Amino acid sequence: MTRVPLHRSLVARLLALSLVVMLCAVTATAWLAAQSTTRAIVQAQNHGSSSGEEMIYDEVIAYAATHTDWSGVRPLLADLAARTSRPVSLSDPGGGFLAGSETSTARPARRSALVDPLHLEGYLSPEPAGRGIDWRAVGPYRLTEAELATVSERVLAAESCLLDKGLDAWVSRETGGRPTLNSDGASDAQLAGCARESGADVPTATEQRALAELTALTNACLGDGAVTVRLGFTWTGRAPAGSDTRACIDDALRMQLRPYVAPRAILYIHDAAAVTGPVFDLSRASTMRIAGVSALVLAVAVAITLVVGVRMSRPLRALTRAAEQGAARLPIRGRDEIGRLTAAFNDLTERREAGERQRQAMVNDIAHELGTPLTNIRAWLQAARDGVADPGPELLDLLTDEADVLQHIIDDLRDLAAADAGRLRLHPELVYVNELLDQVAAVHRSRTADVTIVTEPAGDPEVMLDPLRMRQAVGNLLSNAVRHSPPGATVTVRSRLDGDDLVIEVVDAGDGISEDDLPHVFTRFWRVDRSRSRHTGGSGLGLAIVRDLAGAHGGTVTATSRAGHGSTFAIRLPARA
Ligand code: ADP
Repeated sequence: MTRVPLHRSLVARLLALSLVVMLCAVTATAWLAAQSTTRAIVQAQNHGSSSGEEMIYDEVIAYAATHTDWSGVRPLLADLAARTSRPVSLSDPGGGFLAGSETSTARPARRSALVDPLHLEGYLSPEPAGRGIDWRAVGPYRLTEAELATVSERVLAAESCLLDKGLDAWVSRETGGRPTLNSDGASDAQLAGCARESGADVPTATEQRALAELTALTNACLGDGAVTVRLGFTWTGRAPAGSDTRACIDDALRMQLRPYVAPRAILYIHDAAAVTGPVFDLSRASTMRIAGVSALVLAVAVAITLVVGVRMSRPLRALTRAAEQGAARLPIRGRDEIGRLTAAFNDLTERREAGERQRQAMVNDIAHELGTPLTNIRAWLQAARDGVADPGPELLDLLTDEADVLQHIIDDLRDLAAADAGRLRLHPELVYVNELLDQVAAVHRSRTADVTIVTEPAGDPEVMLDPLRMRQAVGNLLSNAVRHSPPGATVTVRSRLDGDDLVIEVVDAGDGISEDDLPHVFTRFWRVDRSRSRHTGGSGLGLAIVRDLAGAHGGTVTATSRAGHGSTFAIRLPARA
């Protein structure tokens, strides 16, 4: 039996099935893992990073810089908490609760930052101003809209002036909130030049008032100083020796701005993890999603397995049913192992049925073959008893002939049964083939005078074979040839060595066998003309026995014939000397 191609085999289909199921499971797992990890990373970025803290600090400072108290800060804190998922609260330096994003007033033991727009915490402020004052704390320096427009215009003109000179320039908001020109490449003189040219260094009326106030406060700080504070909080004039004018200006500025900003407060930024749980903790929704996906994968796997399993087992069940009921042919579906099994089963059923038919036919044939001579014997005996036939030696000869026929058939049947059971014992010995063929020819010559039997030896081969059995086989062929030859014809028995084989041929020029009949001549009880009796034809066992005898010697027998032109039967045996 040829092998089932791999792509059709059950193994390949089962492998494909488990691959599909595994692929589903792996894809679902990978998808879930990717989803959870992405979520966790996003959470970690939002919750845990310091940029979140910086943002909270910056926005709370902005509030403090632009409000005189904390009374309206709650919405901002709630908004910040919502954006960062980290609860935020504020208390006064004494520890009293001021405001918080949550309703609870509980706060962590560790403070996050001191919120004072006039004293920025350097580590939290992205660009702490030189003097640590948030630029949004503008106080009396707040420009009117018209002033801001004028100043912005002038500063932009100053910026163009620097850019025209091929220098770099940018505008930032410095302490007091005024747009200020900066440059890395320009010298102080160049900066001052452009500012002067554009009028950007001219203080507005508001600024003049505030600066005058600041000058007074600075001089009070310096003791007997006579300095004038100018835009950008630089100064001109004389400061007392050993005094720190810059520190005095900063202190004065803070004093000046203090009434405009919210009082100092302590900012608490709660730990996100403590509130929302571990980063990789699965929420109820995630758990449900995982459960759902797992159930889906499971359902897909079960469905695929069921479909494939049912498809695979259906033909097996049909086969079992058919075997139990001894049914006829089954339809062959597919070319896999089950398809092959079904084909083999059909084949087996066919052979069993053929065997059964053959057995029945054989019993019929045997009954018929034994019945005919018996009927003859009974008829002759009856005739003798009735006085119709003369019970002399003639009748006895006839009865003996019929008994011989019976004996012959029984001997043939015994030989065939022995061959079938593998009990056909051979007694091989070294035999001169020519001698054996001469003996067989002589026996048949003595029986027939009408037909000439000639032997044609080729060389003198000496071969290991069972002489009795081989005489029987050649004898059967020879008697057939003689029986089917017309009077006066010649039958030739010849032998030759063909390579390692001995070939014995019996050739006649008699009736011949038609093309349709030729394939059946070696079948038991088969005769071209079934109506012939043993006397004119035979029982149809002779050639079947020749085939079995040749087979027992490890050889074959073949027939070639043409109706009306005679036949040639050839026994081919391995010539072991
Ligand atoms: P049988 O005993 O009837 O001869 P065989 O098995 O010897 O049975 O032969 C089967 C049939 O083959 C015969 O009935 C006969 O019709 C045919 N046959 C056998 N040998 C020859 C032959 N030499 N020429 C023509 N027909 C033959």
